[in-house]
Amino acid sequence: MAEIVLERLSHSYFPNPSSTRDYALRNIELKWSDGGAYALLGPSGCGKSTLLNIISGLLNPTEGRVLFDKKDVTHLPPDKRNIAQVFQFPVIYDTMTVYDNLAFPLRNRGVDSQFIDQRVRAIASMLELDSRLSLRAANLAPDDKQKISMGRGLVRDDVNVIMFDEPLTVIDPELKWKLRSKLKELHQNISLTMIYVTHDQTEALTFADEVIVMQDGEIVQVGTPIELFERPLHTFVGHFIGSPGMNILPVEMTGNGVCFHGHPVALEGTATTKTGKFEIGIRPEFVKVCSSGIPAKVHKTADIGRHTVIEAQVGVSSVNVISSGPPPALGAHIHLEFIPEHTRLYADGWIASEGGSG
Ligand code: ATP
Repeated sequence: MAEIVLERLSHSYFPNPSSTRDYALRNIELKWSDGGAYALLGPSGCGKSTLLNIISGLLNPTEGRVLFDKKDVTHLPPDKRNIAQVFQFPVIYDTMTVYDNLAFPLRNRGVDSQFIDQRVRAIASMLELDSRLSLRAANLAPDDKQKISMGRGLVRDDVNVIMFDEPLTVIDPELKWKLRSKLKELHQNISLTMIYVTHDQTEALTFADEVIVMQDGEIVQVGTPIELFERPLHTFVGHFIGSPGMNILPVEMTGNGVCFHGHPVALEGTATTKTGKFEIGIRPEFVKVCSSGIPAKVHKTADIGRHTVIEAQVGVSSVNVISSGPPPALGAHIHLEFIPEHTRLYADGWIASEGGSG
């Protein structure tokens, strides 16, 4: 296990990068504590795999350093980094039994057979594979095969870090939640540094204590799931996280506040800048339908079980509302209220209000 530090990492796949657009990663600064559970979250192409490959040693970064427990490993090959990796597709030996698959990484390192037996049985039990230990891996269902793959990563107790690269891609939706919570439980039982790479916010937020949100090769926010939900530092994070995401609405700065389509809106606190392209961010959970407020027209409704998502139109803007009341009729005229302590101001995409209690 190790503390991992990424120091001013940048990477370009071009031999002579000349502009920021030539870089797949830009100026990545991160410190991951020994034993922590982290997720790298971002849309396709934002640089997650590039970063993972730099940590595992498959890629040499154009600039910057990778440190494991303060030791510079930037140019060490993968086999010298002591990392376990679990990929999108199960990496197992079909002809071997489940037991032998799990034991393989330890036998390969000449570990004592008594320790191997103890460790294989402990990991198999955590993954609920203990009743299948003598079966051939070929005969198992895809989710069991992926559990073996995870088990092969987890069985070693001497790794610096275990990295999961979109490990639930091949798993059926109804089994995903089960494996997701299993991984979280495993992290609590085995204090290994774990990095989980995904474009799926639910996977990132349920697994990690701290989530790193990436966009276009840069980190836009590092935070706990609640911080990312409550106070996105950038409109991208607000919109990307949540279902539906944060409403990002254009506003005009007036002498004493902001106006949304001519209606004054109270913010969480004071604005920190007077210049830029201004927007407010308000989560659908914090927009209320009430008897007075901003006039809106119901455009769509969706019943999502305990709640209704109302898509309301205000001028040319769409505002999503999560409501627990009965769904209003399509075309109905309603009024909206934005809860001030959850109404953030953004300037050029970045948070520009402070002093809120929300
Ligand atoms: P995905 O979730 O689709 O795997 P990602 O977030 O992992 O995406 P990367 O695969 O790291 O993103 O890609 C980051 C950027 O680098 C993208 O613009 C991609 O096109 C580019 N890129 C990735 N690999 C190469 C390569 N071998 N050569 C040139 N460009 C590459």
